[in-house]
Amino acid sequence: MAAPSHELPSWDEAAPRQVVDYALRRRARLAEVDSGRVGVGEVCDANPYLRTAAAFHGVPSDVSCPICRKENLTMVSWVFGDRLGQASGSARSAAEIGQLARRYAEFSVHVVEVCRTCHWNHLVRSYVSGLKSQPPRTRKMAK
Ligand SMILES: [Zn+2]
Repeated sequence: MAAPSHELPSWDEAAPRQVVDYALRRRARLAEVDSGRVGVGEVCDANPYLRTAAAFHGVPSDVSCPICRKENLTMVSWVFGDRLGQASGSARSAAEIGQLARRYAEFSVHVVEVCRTCHWNHLVRSYVSGLKSQPPRTRKMAK
């Protein structure tokens, strides 16, 4: 590897932070389905893009689908951030997110669970990763 190790940020600098857990919202959503206030068709609406992402970038979980219980949910991580350029808004594997986190300043990651059988999907967790932004340097060169 070309880069000397002291130029690489430590994992701590790129570690996930500002983690938001959406378990309560998920439970509320499922309660609405159970009570019949929300139709199954409204919550099992994963679009083709999300389903493809689940197939190619998804990570199997040990949580069974709360709607159909026919399979375990697949976790898909999406990255968002102005500095990511074209990578923003795409699904990424954990290894890819690790690489992005070492190269780019702060971006957010949304983890969505998807059932590939009934197309249930819900936001599970979001967090901020990437390099912590540096404080702006004072310009001393100005005349
Ligand atoms: Zn399902």
